[in-house]
Amino acid sequence: MDSKTLIKIEDQYGAHNYHPLNVVIERAEGVWVYDVEGNRYLDALSAYSALNHGHLHPRLVQVVTDQLQRLTLTSRAFRNDQLPLLYKELCELTGYEMCLPMNTGAEAVETALKAARKWAYDKKGVPDGEAEIIACENNFHGRTITIITFSTESLYRDGFGPFTPGFVTIPYGDADALEAAITPNTAAFLVEPIQGEAGVVVPPDGYIRQVSDICARHNVLLLADEIQTGLGRTGKLFACDHDNVHPDIMIVGKALGGGMYPVSGVLASKEILGVFEPGTHGSTFGGNPLGAAVAREAIKVLVEEGLIENSARMGEYFQTELKERLAQTPNPHVDHIRGKGLFVGVVLKKEAGGARRFCEALEKRRVLCKETHEDVIRFAPPLIIDQETIDWTLEHIIQVLNMS
Ligand SMILES: *Cc1c(COP(=O)(O)O)cnc(C)c1O
Repeated sequence: MDSKTLIKIEDQYGAHNYHPLNVVIERAEGVWVYDVEGNRYLDALSAYSALNHGHLHPRLVQVVTDQLQRLTLTSRAFRNDQLPLLYKELCELTGYEMCLPMNTGAEAVETALKAARKWAYDKKGVPDGEAEIIACENNFHGRTITIITFSTESLYRDGFGPFTPGFVTIPYGDADALEAAITPNTAAFLVEPIQGEAGVVVPPDGYIRQVSDICARHNVLLLADEIQTGLGRTGKLFACDHDNVHPDIMIVGKALGGGMYPVSGVLASKEILGVFEPGTHGSTFGGNPLGAAVAREAIKVLVEEGLIENSARMGEYFQTELKERLAQTPNPHVDHIRGKGLFVGVVLKKEAGGARRFCEALEKRRVLCKETHEDVIRFAPPLIIDQETIDWTLEHIIQVLNMS
């Protein structure tokens, strides 16, 4: 079936909760995807960083294929032979004592919020039902009703109330605002070390270090949502590593599943994750052996194939070259460029007419990326990308950014 027909069917039968580009992908390999007409495109979004390993990484395909012949699901009512090894390998890689597996990012965030509340009651002595959690303006942590409670984006919230009590928001990047918002009942501060959906918003240097110190001083848990920034995206294993901060709770997802399968999790100390007892929390699919097997291989590939270092090197090259090449052109539309590693936001001037038209023009040139909010184009290609492909991509980006 051709693209037009498939798009028509999709629009007729599917809820319209996304506004995708009109490219219908049928296969992929590495950094490249192919539409049903056979055109090849660069994937410069990587499924919002769920495809850090690129499409169909051979080692991940092998592990999934092998695991599919053996065992896919037990539920946590029984044990399986993959989950213990995922726990151990993930904890050893990240320096945490314990892990709690989930499937999607939103579930992992919910898990972290539940852990923080229970920790506040059991360990900190906050009166029952009084725990407060602080989050940041312009955050993105997922789509459940509790999570959109503390969203400040009306598109995510409007029409979906009533909401969950116990949350406050403060400006992002402002450590003093955190200190001022903390009360004796504050359980946790939830933060993205770089705000992805907000448009690759990088906080001031040292912000994560400062909020970490403030949290420690007030016995408040620091919850880092590294679902998008983690696992090499910013040129370090975690974006918090840029500030040498080890958050109390680390939330991971997206690339943990190697682009094959939804796998997420919460990492923390025994003191924190120890608050969960049998029956207090769970998930039918969380920790299943298929997901555990692919996650184990995904973190091995990340380390053994140097994807984190490649993200740092190629990200630096991408940003530097983009700025230099733009400076040699009229550059009528770009306000500034920001990001870390292969996580790059091109912020357009208000008069540029929005980021969408630039993404559509890039699609015509076979580069796939997506606008975030009105004025930011996000580039987040798979971490396996090489310099030659970046050079090819930059040619197109420069052309498009100079259109009238
Ligand atoms: C994508 C994302 C989530 C939600 O993950 P889902 O798997 O879509 O539920 C949460 N936090 C951040 C920072 C994300 O980028």
